Amino acid sequence: MARLIVKRGRAKPLWYGHPWVYAQAVERVEGSYEPGGVVDVIDPSGAFIGRALANPRSSIVARILSRDPNEHIDRELLRRRLAAALAVRARLGLPGQGTDAYRLVNSEGDGLPGLVVDVYGKSLAVQFTALGLYRLADAIVTLLRELLEPERIVQIGAGAYAQTEGIPATTHLLHGEGGEVVVSENGVRYGVDLLGGQKTGLYCDQRLNRALVASLSRGQRVLDCYSYVGGFALNALHGGALEVTAVDASGRAVAAAQRNAELNGVALPVVEADVFRYLAEVPRGSVDLTIVDPPKFARSRRELDAALKGHRKLHRAALRTVRDGGLLASACCSQLVTVDELRRTLAAAALDERRRVRLLQVLGAGPDHPTLPGFPEGEYLKFLLCEVTS
Ligand code: SAH
Repeated sequence: MARLIVKRGRAKPLWYGHPWVYAQAVERVEGSYEPGGVVDVIDPSGAFIGRALANPRSSIVARILSRDPNEHIDRELLRRRLAAALAVRARLGLPGQGTDAYRLVNSEGDGLPGLVVDVYGKSLAVQFTALGLYRLADAIVTLLRELLEPERIVQIGAGAYAQTEGIPATTHLLHGEGGEVVVSENGVRYGVDLLGGQKTGLYCDQRLNRALVASLSRGQRVLDCYSYVGGFALNALHGGALEVTAVDASGRAVAAAQRNAELNGVALPVVEADVFRYLAEVPRGSVDLTIVDPPKFARSRRELDAALKGHRKLHRAALRTVRDGGLLASACCSQLVTVDELRRTLAAAALDERRRVRLLQVLGAGPDHPTLPGFPEGEYLKFLLCEVTS
C-alpha cells in the first residue's frame, strides 16, 4: 500500500475529521499508486490517520474514506456507507409524506467524498466529483440498484471537476430509460428533466427553508428572486400567499417554473429578468416577504471581495422592497462566503438603506446534507430569515 506522509503542522485538521489531503500538505510519498487508487495517510510521527483514494492530478491529492486501519476500500465498504446513508434518511422520514426528492449521499458527510446521490422518486441522479470513487462507479451503481431498485439512474456531468479528475463532463443514462420524472417536495410537485437540467435538477438542500417560507406566506405578497424552477414561489403559494412573483434571468428556468406552476394548478407570474434590474423597478415597501437565493458570487478566493460587495448590493436592493414589519429571506450558496461575512453585508446594507433588521433565524441545508464538524467546507449553504422595519 502506498503511503502519503503528511507535513509537520498539517496533520491536525485531518485528525479532526477533515477528509481532504492537499498536495502542499504532503511531505513525501512512499511506494506508488495509480490515479484513483488507494493510499494510507500517515502523520509525521508515523501514525495511521486514514485510508484514502488518491489522485496526483488534483490539488486535493487524497480523500479519506476510512479511519480504521483494518477497513479496506472495497465493495463491502461501499455497501456499508450506502446502507448507513439510507438508514439515516429513513430516520429523518425520507422519503416521507409529500417528499420523495432528497439527497441520499452527501459526499464527505456520508463518508464517500466525491459522490453525490439524489433521489427523485423512483429515479436516482448520481454525480462523481473525484476520480477515486468514479473508478468504483460500476460497483456503486450495482449496489444502488440492489438497495433501492430504481427505475432509472442518471449520471450528472462532473462540471468543473471533469477535466482534472478525468470524469465525463456529460450527463447520461446509466440504467433505465428517459429522463423526465415528476417528484414532490413539501407537497409541491415538480417536473424534473434529469438528462437536461442544471446540476442535479432540483436543489433539495433548501427543502426545509422552502417549508419555512410556506409557513410564513398566508395572505402575504411574496417576491421570489432567482427562482430557478420556482421552489420558494410554489411553496409560498402552497402556504396560502395572496400573490407571488418569481424572477429569474434564465429562459429555461422561467419555462420550468411555469410548467411546475401548471403541474400544481396554481397561477404564478414568472418574470424573465436580471434581478438587480427588476428590483430597481419594484415600488419601495410593496412586498411582505422577499426571498433572494442568488448563484455563487465567488468561485475563488480572488473573487471574494467582489462577491461581498455583490451581497451588500443585493441586500440593499431587496431591503428596499420590503414593507415596514415585513420579512427578508437571504440565501447564499457560496462556500467561500462565511455566515459571519454574509451577516455583515446585511448589516452594512441596513445602514445604507436606513432600515432596521433583526435576524429571526440563521439556517443552512437540510439534514439530508450531513456535514462533519472538522470540515467547514461542507457547510456551504446559509439562509438568513430577517424582520425588516423602517
Ligand atoms: N431559488 C432556487 C435556486 C436558485 S439557483 C431554488 O430554490 O431552487 C440560482 C438561479 O439564479 C438560477 O436559476 C439562475 O438562472 C439565476 N440567475 C443567475 N443570475 C441571475 C440574474 N442576474 N438575475 C436573475 N436570475 C439569475
